Amino acid sequence: MARGRERRWPHSSESTLNIAFITLGCPKNLVDAEVMLGLLDKAGHRLVSEPDGADVAVVNTCSFIAAAVQESSDVVRRCLELKAAGRLSRVVVAGCLSQRYGEELFDSLPGVDGVVGCSHFESIVEAVEQAWAGERVLLLGPPVAIYDHTSPRILGTPSHIAYVKIAEGCDNVCSYCTIPTLRGSMRSRAPDSVVAEAVELKAAGVVEVNLIAQDTTAYGTDIAAKGMLPELLVALAETGLPWIRLLYTHPARVTEELIEVMASIPAIVPYIDLPIQHISDVILRQMGRRISGGEIVELIGRIRSVIPEMAIRSSVMVGFPGETEGDFEELLSFIRRGMIDHLGVFEYSPESGTRAATLDKQISSETAGERARLLVSVMNELAIERAERLTGVQMRVLVDSVAEAAIARTPGQAWEMDGVVHISLDPGTARPKPGAFADITVTGGSEFDLTGELTA
Ligand code: SF4
Repeated sequence: MARGRERRWPHSSESTLNIAFITLGCPKNLVDAEVMLGLLDKAGHRLVSEPDGADVAVVNTCSFIAAAVQESSDVVRRCLELKAAGRLSRVVVAGCLSQRYGEELFDSLPGVDGVVGCSHFESIVEAVEQAWAGERVLLLGPPVAIYDHTSPRILGTPSHIAYVKIAEGCDNVCSYCTIPTLRGSMRSRAPDSVVAEAVELKAAGVVEVNLIAQDTTAYGTDIAAKGMLPELLVALAETGLPWIRLLYTHPARVTEELIEVMASIPAIVPYIDLPIQHISDVILRQMGRRISGGEIVELIGRIRSVIPEMAIRSSVMVGFPGETEGDFEELLSFIRRGMIDHLGVFEYSPESGTRAATLDKQISSETAGERARLLVSVMNELAIERAERLTGVQMRVLVDSVAEAAIARTPGQAWEMDGVVHISLDPGTARPKPGAFADITVTGGSEFDLTGELTA
């Protein structure tokens, strides 16, 4: 549920159309984009990095909250300006904005040639070719599609990192969330398909796989009542992938069995993304999170008792309707306890079609903004304390890039989410390679990143 930065792709094969592809939003949307790129490339189209001068621009959008709708619309408008200036021929809008607003986009974004919902991302080639032929394209339906290991895919991450989407959609229906209407009900990929994809990614040089879904802990509940995530992790460990990271869990579904399996498999990095959203029982109930504040604290205690070195990422929402000063103080004092290592802080946004948007006692954006700032400042203080505690500690990191210094991540730092380690390199020393592991000693850090040096 995080918003990603704009991504653009370098040139690829000889083909009939020059297509510029921009993707926004979360890693789940990124995987759809990677499949669409694979399909366009396989169809022989040429992928270019800039919409300026391209034949077709595809904008894969996000729309889970108002701010994301605004950002997506702005990017589409920039492409439409190029089209109006004769520097781009066609504009196709894909992803969650299309799924949410459909045909309306032809009016709200005049000049758009094609609207392709999340439901039809696998029909992107037809959409682009029909738009090029001058047709107005509208491909929209119930979101039931999900890719598998046979889908062509061009990675948008560095070649040693990949996201693997194990399921799509969500049945949790939290009261503030639009995603179930955008992505449909929860549907898992077959375990064999996920494992086959992991084997292919490893063969292609990937060393870190990030497992994603709207709720990874719901994996397999549409196949076997109790869910199948622990079994899937055991099967993935047999692929020999060095790092497997679990993102987007739901605290109400994290079981003893899952914690035990994570503890027993070295390849599963001691890291869990555990969005709690809040800690006040009243707010959690209003959100429809099916867990209490006390149970969340207990869960984190259990996780840490089994895996003491576990890094916990979470996300919280402030300004939810009815959130009193007392509710917020409860959240603030919980965060101050330092049980969470990395935190995403969101300000509540009333989204049309959600239950929460109809609730009384909506909170002003000023109040929500102030609460968010307070939480972030507490997290920054805790991050500096953690960097001090880690100073002098030796650890194995994954190198992501090497220039004057090397940029790497600890097992407790997810790609583009939790900061990095800046490793100073002495001129005479052997330089680590991107995608390789290195042993370092932490030398310090800030509220965002750590610093380190290679351990001789
Ligand atoms: S778990 Fe809740 S917040 Fe997350 S995608 Fe599902 S409904 Fe939305």
